[in-house]
Amino acid sequence: MGSIGSKRQEVKQRIAAAAVTAGRDAKSITLLAVSKTFPADAVREAFAAGQREFGENYVQEALAKIDALADLRPRIEWHLIGPLQSNKTRAVAAAFDWVHSVDRLKIAERLAGQRPPELPPLQLCLQVNVSGEASKSGVAPAELPALAQAVAALPRERIVLRGLMAIPEPAADVEAQRAPHRALRELLEALNAGGLALDTLSMGMSADLEAAVAEGATIVRVGTAIFGTR
Ligand SMILES: *Cc1c(COP(=O)(O)O)cnc(C)c1O
Repeated sequence: MGSIGSKRQEVKQRIAAAAVTAGRDAKSITLLAVSKTFPADAVREAFAAGQREFGENYVQEALAKIDALADLRPRIEWHLIGPLQSNKTRAVAAAFDWVHSVDRLKIAERLAGQRPPELPPLQLCLQVNVSGEASKSGVAPAELPALAQAVAALPRERIVLRGLMAIPEPAADVEAQRAPHRALRELLEALNAGGLALDTLSMGMSADLEAAVAEGATIVRVGTAIFGTR
């Protein structure tokens, strides 16, 4: 078991080891601590251990936690990684620093229109369905270029398109885990070859962060390995 601080240290070491193997600088990989279902006190404990970036899935739950931890602003950074419905965009635009789960232009337009002008621009990733199942959220790879161009054209003082996010199907071995992460990296490279300047690949979770780092992840989203099982 161990404390949140020591489990976080273990995850940092996994990232560092994976970076060495990949010939990458571990500093180019941000650990996003996914605190969904855990109370504000657990977030506070991780913050005390040095963690600054937190990921949440459920808007209502996140808003309550963000409010309870308002004293940690502006050092704490909040990322929405779960599905976002259009009736929640106003609250999200006011409370979060990043949204990883944008998969429709309408959501990005609303976030741009509703981002309070006194705040820095909201940082966005487009969620891509790299596993190809109809039930999963995320834009289909074939529809990604048009969506990315349209989102990148929205006012940059309100939202900035930073990159791509994926939640691949679980796979047992590292080689099988790498394939969807590689696909996401290649989609990002293709968008950049087409004139965009995206720098973020949000991919990798507790079970597959090594595979994600090997394929170029710049943000790994880790819940269970830091906070325990949900
Ligand atoms: C819950 C969740 C994570 C973290 O998953 P763990 O397996 O607990 O590390 C990462 N990304 C998303 C989108 C999630 O919903």
